[in-house]
Amino acid sequence: MNKPFYITTAIAYPNSKMHVGFGWEVIGSDVVARFRRMEGRPVFFSTGTDEHSQNVEKAALKAGLSSKEYCDQQAGEIRASMERMDIAYDRFIRTSDPDHEKVCQYLVEKAFKAGDVYKQKYEGLYCESCEVFYTEKETAAGAGGPECVTHKLPLKRVSEENYFFKLSKYEEKLKAHFKANPGFLAPDFRRNEVTSFIEQGLKDFSVSRFSVSRTSFKWGIPLPFDPQHIIYVWYDALINYLSAVKYPAPGNPNGDEAFFKKFWPCDVHIIGKDITRFHTVYWPAMLWSAGIELPKNVFAHGFINLNGEKMSKTRGNIVTPDEVMADFGAIALRWYLLSANTFSGDGNYADQDIVLKCNADLSNNMGNLVNRVVSMSLKYFEGRSPVDAGKLPAGIEGVPARLTKHLGAKGEQLSAAIDAFDLSGYCARVVEFSMSLNKFIDETKPWALAKSGDKETLESVLAQLLEGIRNLGIALWPVVPAASDGILAQIGAEGICESQKLATGRELKVPLLSRLGYDAKFALKLSEPKPLFPRLEAPKE
Ligand SMILES: [Zn+2]
Repeated sequence: MNKPFYITTAIAYPNSKMHVGFGWEVIGSDVVARFRRMEGRPVFFSTGTDEHSQNVEKAALKAGLSSKEYCDQQAGEIRASMERMDIAYDRFIRTSDPDHEKVCQYLVEKAFKAGDVYKQKYEGLYCESCEVFYTEKETAAGAGGPECVTHKLPLKRVSEENYFFKLSKYEEKLKAHFKANPGFLAPDFRRNEVTSFIEQGLKDFSVSRFSVSRTSFKWGIPLPFDPQHIIYVWYDALINYLSAVKYPAPGNPNGDEAFFKKFWPCDVHIIGKDITRFHTVYWPAMLWSAGIELPKNVFAHGFINLNGEKMSKTRGNIVTPDEVMADFGAIALRWYLLSANTFSGDGNYADQDIVLKCNADLSNNMGNLVNRVVSMSLKYFEGRSPVDAGKLPAGIEGVPARLTKHLGAKGEQLSAAIDAFDLSGYCARVVEFSMSLNKFIDETKPWALAKSGDKETLESVLAQLLEGIRNLGIALWPVVPAASDGILAQIGAEGICESQKLATGRELKVPLLSRLGYDAKFALKLSEPKPLFPRLEAPKE
């Protein structure tokens, strides 16, 4: 179980505010990374910013800054926002980082020398927002000519001399790869979109933009063999996944072959559904050309709508993770995005929904459970940890059986949910388990046991409940680490956590999965109950 695990998010464009959809991707990836840390595996979790785009250059000009200054500022804000979301990343990579530039130049040169990159005149329809060339049939008909399907904006007819990557050469190999590795792209239904795209025949794609004639467009990494050209932003961006784990390109100041081999091939790229083509068609071909193994898995999540409508930078109806956290806090943001939305499909954000969901699951279900059990234990046993002698009222299912049923005796149900990237399913297991503990209270009626003087049964009941809460605290950690910390501290079980250091130097207190399970001998030091999950209220308009 000590196999290294490498997970990445896509990298964010710094030319606009992070929206809650990308927050979902980053938090979802953080959950998977944290779960693997709980398994005791060495984890590397990378996220960052995709900076070399013309949109960045335009935004910088507008702000009166150089592209680099502008990106420093924006990347700083995105990073700070991720910290507020409690994202435990190992590297925040920026495509303007010097090590990435070296790796990128080395790989494009390698492809050039291998004959996979060649020069040709090109004319095509270009969406400046997507930064992608489209063929006529991939566009929508607009009033002023062909439009981008995503952005509903007119496309520019661009003619220039570019370098191209021989994607067509890898068509058969890609078909075979998809056939032999049905799990390469998940969820299943996304695979058909990509395989039918490949079936239509692959066209070579541009890996450069000519930069000299247009003085304003020079923000990017120059092609090492023709520095008048800069490397196309997508080619540049995808390579971040190699740079982040120290790909040992000659001249890379951060290169480290042993480290790279430890974490590559990547276990999973978590991405949005709109960029599957880049990650499962272009990217594999680029890697094959460089003689590098492919990532094991690409997982594409859906989009988050805002109050039932598609969020769009261009149309300005966007909600940011920071805005949500300002109203409801990071625990609520994380819990709501993951528990209320199916990661593989499209989701939704609405203020009234986050209030309802978090109050139901966190305050009413889990918060009440912890509060009731700790209060009763303190009241009936004066702070001494109750001991489980296994004496329950007849016909009542004990906590160990409930634990096995909902989480798995050793967390098997949780592992299965993480393996399938079923993050809402993971949350549902935890909610069901907490509900079953509340039900256990209703069935055993500890207050009645106290009244009748049956101290022995009362002690077993409360000991089992505390042990249930300890397991609840462990299970919650990947999703809402701060809430898990609060629960474990409340029952004095922080000691089960192991200290782990991220590559950034940040220290994490990780409750290991091996500590999940029923342990009747576990002794706890209870403290006065504090409200863990204050009830949320929707902000007034
Ligand atoms: Zn577009």
